[in-house]
Amino acid sequence: MDDCLFCRIAAGQIPAEKVLENDLFVAFRDIHPKAPQHILVIPREHLGSLNDVDVWCGCQGQKLLEFMVAVAQEAGVDESGYRVLINNGPDAGQEVHHMHFHILGGEDLGDFR
Ligand code: 5GP
Ligand code: ZN
Repeated sequence: MDDCLFCRIAAGQIPAEKVLENDLFVAFRDIHPKAPQHILVIPREHLGSLNDVDVWCGCQGQKLLEFMVAVAQEAGVDESGYRVLINNGPDAGQEVHHMHFHILGGEDLGDFR
């Protein structure tokens, strides 16, 4: 989608500090990091939110999980620990309407509300 920020980052039309990418997914650093390691993982395919994920086949979900583990390894937090977070919809404060997963780590993240 031309008017979607994360589609444009995935396509390389807007600069971002990419951590890892493959044919399906892109990982890049959040512009306003909330932890020493704060990486966003997006599918190249535009899905507005998690609610649209029914267009995926099961294998894509498996590949996404494997990609997130590879991102955690790349960031050096796979052993120390990390949090995976989705803000989905208004009550969760979703700001960018291209489905994305936050990977946070690099310090003790404390309790989760
Ligand atoms: P949300 O609240 O939608 O789950 O999170 C959107 C995230 O995208 C926020 O953490 C915000 O800092 C990040 N973000 C917004 N615009 C940009 C951008 O242009 N580049 C990067 N790298 N991150 C962005
Ligand atoms: Zn998009």
